[in-house]
Amino acid sequence: MLNLAHIRSQFPILTREIHGRPLVYLDHAASAQKPIAVIEAQREYLMHHHSNVHRGVHELSQLATDAFEAAREKVRTHIGASSTEEIIWTSGATDAINLVAQSWGRAEISPGDVILITRMEHHANIVPWQMLAEEKQAKLEVVEVTDEGVIDEADFQEKLKKNPKILAIIHVSNVLGTVNDVKRWTKKAQQVGARVLIDGSQSIPHLAVDVVDIGCDFFVFSGHKAYGPTGIGVLYGRKELLEKMPPWRGGGEMIDVVDIEKGTSYAALPHKFEAGTPHISGAIAMGVALDWMNGTGLQSIGDHERALGAQARHLLSDVEGMRFIGEAQERTGVVSFLIDGLHPYDVGTLLDQMGIAVRTGHHCAQPLMARFQISGTIRASFGAYNTMQEVDALAAGVERASRMLR
Ligand code: PLP
Repeated sequence: MLNLAHIRSQFPILTREIHGRPLVYLDHAASAQKPIAVIEAQREYLMHHHSNVHRGVHELSQLATDAFEAAREKVRTHIGASSTEEIIWTSGATDAINLVAQSWGRAEISPGDVILITRMEHHANIVPWQMLAEEKQAKLEVVEVTDEGVIDEADFQEKLKKNPKILAIIHVSNVLGTVNDVKRWTKKAQQVGARVLIDGSQSIPHLAVDVVDIGCDFFVFSGHKAYGPTGIGVLYGRKELLEKMPPWRGGGEMIDVVDIEKGTSYAALPHKFEAGTPHISGAIAMGVALDWMNGTGLQSIGDHERALGAQARHLLSDVEGMRFIGEAQERTGVVSFLIDGLHPYDVGTLLDQMGIAVRTGHHCAQPLMARFQISGTIRASFGAYNTMQEVDALAAGVERASRMLR
């Protein structure tokens, strides 16, 4: 059981008002609020330890480098990777997927090759592959999603017969909350020789992840959805693959020797993929965010959010014309819904007037919206700091908004 009063007291933003009402923040899936430990970690670093990393012999540079690399080690342990050489700092999940598409993809994808994704991907795990497919005259294939919002097993098997070179798959859907059995899908895809990239943006804040147990080749996530800062994220890649992959961005930090005449040789992993000055304070604070999640208890956080989601669905189902999108057995707490005859945007705007922050629209998953023949949903998503009272407020707010709009 989470001590909610204690947790909430660590999130300064939760005491603020919106339109004169107490903030009810139900947009965790878009970005998490930050505990004071994360905010303070950035401040402390910038106030007392800042310098550039890996570049100086002076004391501050050493301190900054040590803290930056210690954060990398925290990520490694958190996701069960074998070595910090496999942990690449990126600016976020989007950046990490683009890195794989541009480095691994440009080297490995040839005309006619198949790149496999699913219908429930976020645009971040669609567009980079579309761009690569276009450049390489490769083919983008899509595994369909059932009415319940789970991966269509038969279609998956069918698509595997096309011998994809890579499967890029979301771990937890940001719209449906579906938790995909990525270990199973990884195994199946690898049996036909595919590499597997998992988009863990919505799993890292809610579930324990072990990349070695899953057996994937790549795993990506953003810090800001897991109580960390914006502008920092992670690419995990298996060392043997990362070693073979060419660098993507060029510049300082990623080189060994630069010689105009003889050409440039590159740094060892992980720096080969980290051109330029990184988001040092972001990485350090992200390490603190992982500490915060582990200290609070990931299992308890996940259980709590699922209880909030179940109660929200229970209360919202009383609202006339309610339709939920996403009925998978294995789900996180996120709740996506529509109300017959009402536009999600109108409902969201009225909720905002009541201080309730939810997401409305396509949630960067237009192909999934097209699958359900809808233009968008209203989405309530939960974090460790949300309460049952906030779920009550949401249900009352939605009821009130729908009466006002009818
Ligand atoms: N993948 C999923 C499932 C997401 O929910 C998001 C963000 O909403 C992203 C990728 C992209 O994350 P970022 O914008 O932090 O790169």
